[in-house]
Parts: sequence; C-alpha cells; structure tokens
Amino acid sequence: MSSLSVNSSLIKDSAYINGLWCQAESGRTIKVFNPATGDLLGQVPDMGPAETLTAIEAAHSALTHWRAVTPKARGQLLRRWFDLIIEHQDDLAQLMTLEQGKPLFETRGEVLYGASYVEWYAEEGKRAYGKIFAASSSDKRALSIQQPIGVVAAITPWNFPNAMITRKIAPALAAGCTVVVKPSEETPFSALALMALAEQAGIPVGVINMITSSQAVEVGAVLTQDSRVRKLSFTGSTRVGKLLYSQSADTVKKLSLELGGNAPFIIFDDADLDAAVAGAVIAKFRNAGQTCVCANRILVQDGIHDEFVARFKAAVEQLIVGNGLAPSTTLGPVINQAAIDKITSLVRRAQAQGAQVISGGQTHNAGPLFFSPTILTQVSQQMEIAQQEIFGPVAPIIRFKDEAEALAMANDTPYGLAAYFYTESHSRIWRFAEALEFGMVGINESILSNEIAPFGGVKESGQGREGSSLGLDDYMETKYLCMGGIR
Ligand code: NAP
Repeated sequence: MSSLSVNSSLIKDSAYINGLWCQAESGRTIKVFNPATGDLLGQVPDMGPAETLTAIEAAHSALTHWRAVTPKARGQLLRRWFDLIIEHQDDLAQLMTLEQGKPLFETRGEVLYGASYVEWYAEEGKRAYGKIFAASSSDKRALSIQQPIGVVAAITPWNFPNAMITRKIAPALAAGCTVVVKPSEETPFSALALMALAEQAGIPVGVINMITSSQAVEVGAVLTQDSRVRKLSFTGSTRVGKLLYSQSADTVKKLSLELGGNAPFIIFDDADLDAAVAGAVIAKFRNAGQTCVCANRILVQDGIHDEFVARFKAAVEQLIVGNGLAPSTTLGPVINQAAIDKITSLVRRAQAQGAQVISGGQTHNAGPLFFSPTILTQVSQQMEIAQQEIFGPVAPIIRFKDEAEALAMANDTPYGLAAYFYTESHSRIWRFAEALEFGMVGINESILSNEIAPFGGVKESGQGREGSSLGLDDYMETKYLCMGGIR
C-alpha cells in the first residue's frame, strides 16, 4: 500500500478503540486483496469477542459526556469531519477502488455521497424538536423530548465501504449516541481511513470505535447480546439481517435494517425510450450490479420491447470493462470468487429454463473476477434469476402486456427496497407509484438516493430510514413528560 499515491496518514493497519489504534489481542490479521488484480493490499487486525467488549465499554463510557455536548458543538465536529473527507476525497476514492474494485468515477461519487450525510446531519442535529400536546386536564401539561438512544452498533457491507458507514455514524453522533462499527472484512481500509479523519477532526475518544474482524458471527453475537448496546443498525443481506433481528430480541434493541432488494425496472410503451435506456444502464451496471437498489429485473411492455432491447444492447456494449484505476473503465470486477460462482450459476440455470443470452454471458478476459456485461431475454418472472438478488452485471429482460401484469410481476417478491418505472402518463405515475410495494420508487429517474431523502425498504428489505430528518429520529427515543399540580 505504501507504494501508492494514497496519503499515508489514511492507510491504517490497526483498528480504532477508545481513541487508540490497536492490534488484535491474538495477533491475528485479515489479508485484504485488490479484486481487479488479486494483489495483496495489506492486513488489518482480526478481532473477536474480547475486543468487541472493549469497544462497547469505550462507547458506553463516552456516552455520558457526548450526549451532554450541545447539538451545535456536535455539529461543528461533524462539519470538521466533513471538511476533512472533502479535502481527502481523491485519496479515499483511490483507496476504495483498490479494495472494492469499482471505477474511480464511481468511488469519487461515493465519497461525495457519503460526505453529504455528514454535512447534512451536522446541521440536522440542531433540529431535534420535542412536542407539547393539548392538555388532558386543567392541572396537567403533556410534552415530549427527544433523547439519544445510547450506544449504537453498526455493521456494514463491502459494496459501499464509505457511505454505508457515514450514513449511520453521522446521524448517530448528531443525535448524541456513541458507536461501535464493524465494517466488512473485504473493505476495512476505506472504513479505517474514515476513522483517521474522524480522529483528526477531534471527535472525542470513545465516541466512535471501529473493530475489524473476520469473525462476523462471534462479533455479531456480542453486539446483539450486550444490553448496553441499545440500537443495532445493519446494512447487508436479508439472511444476516433476519439473524441479527432475532438475536436482538432478548435485549429488545431498536433496529435499523437496510437489507437486500429485487428491484423491478419497468418501461411502459409510452416511455421516453432514450431516458429509459440510459436509466436502465445506470440502474443495472453501477458498481458492476452490486448495489441493493440495482435493477434486478427489467420489465418491458410488448409495444416497445424489441426496440428497447436493441437500443439497450447497443448501450451496454459501450461499457468498458477493466481495472477501476484506469480512467476509461466504466465496469470493474465483482468482489470475490463466490460472487462469480453465484452469477454464473444464475445465468446458466436461466439459460437451461429458456432464457437467451444476447450479450456477454461469461467471465471477462480482464481477469478472474470480471464478468462481462450480460443481457438475457425471454426471461419469465418465475425463473430463479428474477426472484433472487443477482448482485452482478446481468440484466434479465421480461416482457409484459399491460399495467396490471407489470404490477403483479413487480410486487411478486418478498423484497421491497427500490422500484423504477418510465412512463409519460401522469395518471399512471400516481396510480402505479402508489400500488408498488417498495420503500423507494424512481419515476423516470434511476438515481434516487441522496442525503435529503428517506432511504429504506419495506417487506423483507428491512425497516428504518437513513437520510432526511427521519434518519435522525431513528437514533433518538421519545420521552413523555407529564407535569401535574398546575394551578
Ligand atoms: P452480508 O453478508 O450480509 O454482510 C454484511 C455485513 O454483515 C458485513 O460486515 C459482514 O461481515 C457482516 N456479517 C455477516 N454475517 C454476520 C453475522 N452472522 N453476524 C453479524 N454480522 C455478520 O452482506 P454483503 O454481502 O456484505 O452485502 C451485500 C448485501 O447487502 C446485499 O444483499 C445488498 O442488497 C445489501 N445492501 C443493502 C443496502 C440497503 O441500504 N438496503 C445497501 C447496501 C447493501 P463480513 O463481510 O466481514 O463477513
């Protein structure tokens, strides 16, 4: 890592607990590889239950002081952290491309997107309002205040190694909570670089703690069983989310769960086809198809099906596959061999069930973790590929005849994160948007997430919202105060 042009103060091979950079008690480490080249990037501590308890203890001790700091002063520290992230945006982007693989233009975008939550909550923390209720009797007054929920555990995935962390830490800190974070073992360097900047910003000792670990099950068990942890905020797969949900029952923790998706991307006959093609390419192939809001199924109405397929194929064949550090690259590798195996088997099984590969369909010669941008036609909603989260650069196209059929197909999934549709009919926009069973709907738009809006899912895609004022509420408790004896 030292040979790269990333600022060395941001490359940390230690975890961050109670203001100290530390190694695992066992001395064990995790190796981190570049998915584009297979090169070893470096090693970070492989911590377990003991260090997790130390981090919880640190967060718990820091809570008394931090919750008493005024929201304005907390906001000033967050603002300083934001400024440092912006100052180091190129370093953070390069580091992320190295360990996660997505092209530089995307990692630069993620750093700015991640920072926008820090800026937003630096301001929003000052706007945590209580309420005064109409009195139930003349000698009583009823009001509520908002208070920080306490110590928060945050577990984050590898696909957005920066933004999934800031989206949780910024509102938690703004609300007055302290945090223990466990990033994915695939992308710890981006996470630790954020800690280095938080330390430089002057965020007090113990307020943010980060443990790195390959022992997710053991660490998750400690975080969920400890009654000092009052909230768990998890972003990751629905499988692990359900597990953590049940593990949190004994201590009745508040939960935010940002889980998997199966987004339909629906194009009606009356759509602006140029906009729909451009939107579908972004919604499908961003981060090599590895986002929770990626278009998982493209549903196209009969009347424009063939024309859409032709134009979409032409656009997809313009994608440039390669190492994300090359300025021309628009599609990087997937994260690991397990991802390649899953994508390949989904494509093969779809083919066996009658789907046609009209572009791509196999790994790419750029390297073992690259998969060619792939389009499948003649896909049906019943096929496994339309039911499972693909998490790769594969676009299955399904034909539909009318709005009722499109709606039935779109909602035919236990997931409910994001959906997209393209139409020029304003009546349909309202009717269809209201009928979709998803937490977020892009209407003639494929990029919907930003700090001002509530991000989150329904059904098995989770609960809670990140971003907007709702994201702050998720880190606060409402306390009702009843005042009597008023004469
Ligand atoms: P994952 O396997 O569920 O892992 C997510 C995090 O949980 C990682 O830090 C992982 O650690 C940890 N983990 C794994 N097993 C655990 C356990 N038993 N107890 C506690 N922690 C555990 O998901 P992923 O493959 O990293 O991420 C992809 C998934 O995230 C997709 O399903 C995607 O849709 C979803 N996602 C959702 C959103 C959203 O906002 N809704 C955003 C991004 C991603 P290790 O990595 O170290 O094993």
